[in-house]
Amino acid sequence: MSSSGPRFRFAPSPTGYFHVGGARTALYNWALAKRLGGRFVLRIEDTDEARNRPEWTTGIIDALAWIGISTEDPAFEGPYFQSEYASAHIAAAERLYESGLAYYCDLTSEQIQERAKASGTPGYDGYSRDRGLGPGPGHVLRFRVPSGQTVVNDLVRGTVEFDSAHVEDFVLLRGNGTPMFLLANVVDDMAMQITHVVRAEEHLPNTPKQQMLWEALGADPPVWAHVPVLVNEQRKKLSKRRDKVALEQYRAEGYLADAMVNYLMTLGWAPSGDTEIVPWAQIQEAFRLEDVNHAPAFFDVKKLTAFNGDYIRMMPPEVFVAAASDWIPAEWDRDVFTRVSDLVQTRVATMTEIATMVDFLFTDTVDIDPASWNKTMKASEARAVLSDAAKVYEICQWDTASLKNELEMLGESHGVKLGKAQAPVRVAVTGRSVGPPLFESLEVLGREAVLARMRAALELPDSLAADE
Ligand code: GLU
Repeated sequence: MSSSGPRFRFAPSPTGYFHVGGARTALYNWALAKRLGGRFVLRIEDTDEARNRPEWTTGIIDALAWIGISTEDPAFEGPYFQSEYASAHIAAAERLYESGLAYYCDLTSEQIQERAKASGTPGYDGYSRDRGLGPGPGHVLRFRVPSGQTVVNDLVRGTVEFDSAHVEDFVLLRGNGTPMFLLANVVDDMAMQITHVVRAEEHLPNTPKQQMLWEALGADPPVWAHVPVLVNEQRKKLSKRRDKVALEQYRAEGYLADAMVNYLMTLGWAPSGDTEIVPWAQIQEAFRLEDVNHAPAFFDVKKLTAFNGDYIRMMPPEVFVAAASDWIPAEWDRDVFTRVSDLVQTRVATMTEIATMVDFLFTDTVDIDPASWNKTMKASEARAVLSDAAKVYEICQWDTASLKNELEMLGESHGVKLGKAQAPVRVAVTGRSVGPPLFESLEVLGREAVLARMRAALELPDSLAADE
């Protein structure tokens, strides 16, 4: 398990989806391990039986691979599974007991609560510290918290002091002998020779206890860094119930990995210079924990979407066409798509928008969106413009410029500008009132299809019943 450089780790508890906050933590660790020539250790904290599904681990590994953290990379180590090390966790607890640094207690939680109520001091009061109890059914093993101050040096939070007066003798082994998270986490980090613990801020309150455990077990604690929580628009911590937090969901909705990675890195940290759009190689060189801001970071889906659009537009055209291929139906004619791909590439913010933007080019007929149609047909000249356009388009030159000129002139004869004149044509041909540039689309679609759609639309009443 050893390597000479610093050793970072990412230690997710499987949940069945990959939280964007976890992705950010993983990326921070990855950037550092890569730049410093160290290791990124993946440890699956799967001791909760109910959370021990193999497909969840596969999900974690897939999600990491998507954001560029590959098990094939020489800096990657693992995955290790916490559940396989239970005997090491128990052995460490027993060592602490034998050296007097931990003790057994047989109080039930009700008894503890009663004592706390009677004394007016919340938490466990150390009742069994000197009772000399041994192991036994229902006996928990508690750590004997040393008095004094624990100073945690955190690269993000600075120096944080904890007074032992406020730290109760916490449980290491449950009454049934199974190890608690705090202990398992430390014992694994020690065994895996972790030098840097970079993790979510919610674990900061655990840190003084864990640092005491490192010391009690005879090792130097790691470098700590607790990264800020992610919050939503209302400044509330991102939660699965309220917010879209699963990385997999963003991936399925057509966000690009590069955009996601870049955006996640900027939550709590900013690259120097005047743009936040920075390639990974540069981020990896520039990222420093000391520069991470400890204020909660706003996970702004709108900003992420804008990043994504920028990344889509940065793709070389042929790369976009190839990437788009995964997002459009297999039966669509690739040549037709290639002809309109630049119209699409400059306009979509996510890859899923591609298909809906140009689907009208690939279907025999078009479903007209009633709301778009009804609104457009309210204009008094709309029907006449559509009807005249159907006549002009029978005979005019079939190219973008001519289609546009003809409609512009026709509009003038009805007293409306081009924008107004093209509205009924757009709805009739594409089914919607927004979409890619109209005349390019008409050219690609071809005279026959365009005329057929315009004539079919002219059969419709001015007002259509709205869809369910
Ligand atoms: N398994 C813990 C979690 O998913 C992480 C613990 C740690 O990073 O130390 O929150």
